Amino acid sequence: EQLALWRTDENKPGRYPPVKRLPPNERLRILVTGGAGFVGSNLVDRLMTMGHEVTVLDNLFTGRKKNVAHWLGHPNFNFVIGDVVHPIMLEVDQIYHLACPASPPHYQYNPIKTIKTSVEGTLNMLGLAKRVNARMLLASTSEIYGDPEIHPQVESYWGNVNTIGPRACYDEGKRVAETMMYSYQRQVGVDVRVARIFNTFGPRMHPNDGRVVSNFIIQALQDKDITVYGDGSQTRSFQFVDDLVGGLISLMNGNYTLPVNLGNPDEYTIAHFATAIKRLVNSNSNIVALPATTDDPHKRKPDITVARTKIGWEPAVPVEQGLVKTIEYFKKELDEYGGEIVP
Ligand code: NAD
Ligand code: UDP
Ligand code: UDP
Repeated sequence: EQLALWRTDENKPGRYPPVKRLPPNERLRILVTGGAGFVGSNLVDRLMTMGHEVTVLDNLFTGRKKNVAHWLGHPNFNFVIGDVVHPIMLEVDQIYHLACPASPPHYQYNPIKTIKTSVEGTLNMLGLAKRVNARMLLASTSEIYGDPEIHPQVESYWGNVNTIGPRACYDEGKRVAETMMYSYQRQVGVDVRVARIFNTFGPRMHPNDGRVVSNFIIQALQDKDITVYGDGSQTRSFQFVDDLVGGLISLMNGNYTLPVNLGNPDEYTIAHFATAIKRLVNSNSNIVALPATTDDPHKRKPDITVARTKIGWEPAVPVEQGLVKTIEYFKKELDEYGGEIVP
């Protein structure tokens, strides 16, 4: 009786964000590993709203329960705290495999664990996909191109990665994860999709994430020094997370099975980015130069011809518009935190 009461209460209209009612034959059971993280939780919101049944598997290393708290208790939502390096038995139709720390300070904090997460974690998800005949999408990365010698990067480029540098645990982990995806496809027929994600930003980035957008915004909001690593001439192309989520869903549900770049081709120097964020925040920060980091790629920009032609996707949100939303989010985070944040 207690339980029945609790359930009724939890299911009151307005208790959850609205979700579409899908007929049972259209409602998929979807596993999102890393679903409590930045990209994962934004993806979960979209899949839940579409009316699917979503299971998040996350060890909360860099993810936060509060990113999915608004779905806890919803009949379509399941939250499993667990680590992808351990085998798990579930019954699902699709797997979005995102579990992996993604920012350089996080993936370099415990490089051995990062490698295990990519290798053993992806192996387990492939074993699961094989067993239950699920379609599986790997969140790969532009980092597999390393410090690229061709510009912009096309999917047919094989990359330029230092196998023994500090970034290798992440880059090489994702490279072997891609290799495993296509081995399972060829050998046992697993239905695979591979997204090579370029730099992404937006709400739910962790305040201590350490990536450039969160660092610069948090520094600017607190009038602290904006830290440019190196001379700031290195470039990146930044996409807003809502665009990426749309791309992941289009890729998963399309017929194209080779790797696809998902990113915004608008390319900026990091120095330009520092100035733009300072202006948007209306900050009094100084922009200061710190030493460059090891193996920092000099330039990065996606060629998205494949995404445009094969899955009908391209980014729609201009960078400045995305930055304004992200600045709002970090303002709230700072208020909630009630103190200073050192990124
Ligand atoms: P994030 O750190 O916010 O999210 C990663 C999530 O995975 C977190 O919730 C974390 O707790 C979880 N996780 C980590 N190790 C795990 C493990 N062993 N078992 C279970 N859960 C684990 O990072 P993000 O930016 O949301 O990145 C998500 C995915 O997208 C990652 O695979 C990343 O490599 C990829 N990606 C992101 C970007 C980007 O710019 N954000 C770019 C390229 C690729
Ligand atoms: N696996 C899993 N869940 C499943 C099926 C498999 O976690 O539902 C794991 C399994 O424990 C193994 C990995 O996925 O570590 C690869 O599975 P596969 O069947 O390909 O290999 P095998 O078990 O034959 O070594
Ligand atoms: N960067 C910077 N200051 C910071 C954080 C990052 O200048 O506080 C630079 C970093 O050296 C790199 C770029 O911004 O050239 C993007 O770094 P990020 O860690 O966001 O992503 P990635 O290197 O993985 O593209």
